[in-house]
Amino acid sequence: MEYPSTGRIAWVTAPHTVEIRQRDIRPLAPHEVLIQIRASALCGSDLHTVRGKHPSVSLPSTIGHEFSGDVVAIGEAVSPARLGQRVTVEPCTACGTCESCRSGRYDLCGKLRFLYRDGDGAMADYILVNESSLFPLPDAMSYDEGALMEPLSVSIHAVRRGGVSSGDSVFILGDGPIGILTAAACRLAGAERILLAGHSPARLALAKSFGATETLNAHDRESAEWVLDTTGGVAKSFECVGSEGCFEQATRALRPGGVAVIAGIYEEPHIRMDISRLITRKLSILGTQSYCHDFPRAIAAAASIPLKSLISHTFPLDRLGEALETAMERKRETVKIVIHP
Ligand SMILES: [Zn+2]
Ligand SMILES: [Zn+2]
Repeated sequence: MEYPSTGRIAWVTAPHTVEIRQRDIRPLAPHEVLIQIRASALCGSDLHTVRGKHPSVSLPSTIGHEFSGDVVAIGEAVSPARLGQRVTVEPCTACGTCESCRSGRYDLCGKLRFLYRDGDGAMADYILVNESSLFPLPDAMSYDEGALMEPLSVSIHAVRRGGVSSGDSVFILGDGPIGILTAAACRLAGAERILLAGHSPARLALAKSFGATETLNAHDRESAEWVLDTTGGVAKSFECVGSEGCFEQATRALRPGGVAVIAGIYEEPHIRMDISRLITRKLSILGTQSYCHDFPRAIAAAASIPLKSLISHTFPLDRLGEALETAMERKRETVKIVIHP
């Protein structure tokens, strides 16, 4: 095909103001490829950005980092075999030379960059990325499922970070996509009891099909109390919401020596906590975001996870505003929204 000269891309210019713009597509650097985006999923973090409340993103910013598509052009140093490949992309880049990068922990790189924060969001027709960020999709994987390899990698990374092992009891706060995918990742890691609390009957039912063994509608009861009554306290908890109240429940539900993994994004980052509980019960609190060598794990795990059922809505790019409104309404049946440019 002819190299495209322009393509559409979404910009959040101010809180709750999203513009679809045309941008010029620059020529490829030697190790870059041009991807025509086929599926791009909305993430909870995109909604924080649209509200202007993402703690690490200032406006204006592009959005979109969970996507898949076709390699439609390649830089001169890229193997021709890449052309036409169906791929998903790890949407961040590390410096490659610092001590963390050299030791294999590129997720700890001080110069870690997320493409969308630098104007290369995936709510767009095309995106230019480095060949090293590409992961080919298996033939049986659809573009929609391919776009979900990013959030699945986040959950797999969180579960590895928590050190979930065979026979563990775990508690997950949140019935959004990350909470639900964390249930799937805990199941794959061998957890025996997987308790999950959320607010939507439809999403709680979905969580069960992904691996949750018991669920609670948190409207009915305080979730930590439910976990303590049911299990006596869990080994690991996963906070996938991002609120002081959920942080509190995540630490209170632990047995002595337990580990709370904090994965939610906190629009209000200063919270109060009972530090005595941490000390006397010898708890560990671990923060997590992104991934490190987790995309191949996600792709390998995908076949055993009912990923398609996570997608509740699809919209074309020119209806992104409507897609965002649907996501912000927090309707009970809304789970994952995928944009097809
Ligand atoms: Zn995401
Ligand atoms: Zn580095």
